[in-house]
Amino acid sequence: SQIEIQSFCLNLIEDFQLSNESQQVIKFSRQGDRTHAWMDARLMYSVLSNLLSNAIKYSPPSSTITFTLITASEAIAFQIKDEGIGIDKDDLAALYNPFIRGKNAQKASGTGLGLALVKKCLDLHQGQITVESDVGVGTIFTVTVPQGNDL
Ligand code: ATP
Ligand code: MG
Repeated sequence: SQIEIQSFCLNLIEDFQLSNESQQVIKFSRQGDRTHAWMDARLMYSVLSNLLSNAIKYSPPSSTITFTLITASEAIAFQIKDEGIGIDKDDLAALYNPFIRGKNAQKASGTGLGLALVKKCLDLHQGQITVESDVGVGTIFTVTVPQGNDL
């Protein structure tokens, strides 16, 4: 259905900000002035909350996480940027496979299913995900969901 896209993002961030035991601040920014987007809110909540929980888990307490909404007529994009430990190049190929955890993740708890779920949800939604990461610098995940004529 059509959802009001900025409140969807702000609600999601607020859920994390209220429950986050770490100290990271989640900043919101946006580009483009489209107000509504066509998407399944539950599926996309699941996608974005997995990415946000990774950003929190794999970055230091005093760092900033930036959540950016980018709207255009043909697609909506969400960008989640952290200043965390980053992902080793060797781990990128199997990143979305179930039960795969990176070398960087040994100290943090998890099953390695988060990104596998993200990928399945995005496949259902005909969305895409890309990652840019530098070890010791941080990571940016970008999720794109088609709109309008692409559906
Ligand atoms: P789960 O999500 O099941 O609790 P997990 O976080 O280890 O466990 P995924 O979310 O699937 O599993 O992530 C897979 C691996 O990708 C992680 O183990 C970690 O190595 C790496 N990773 C994911 N997101 C980030 C990030 N933002 N920064 C650094 N590494 C990340
Ligand atoms: Mg995870």
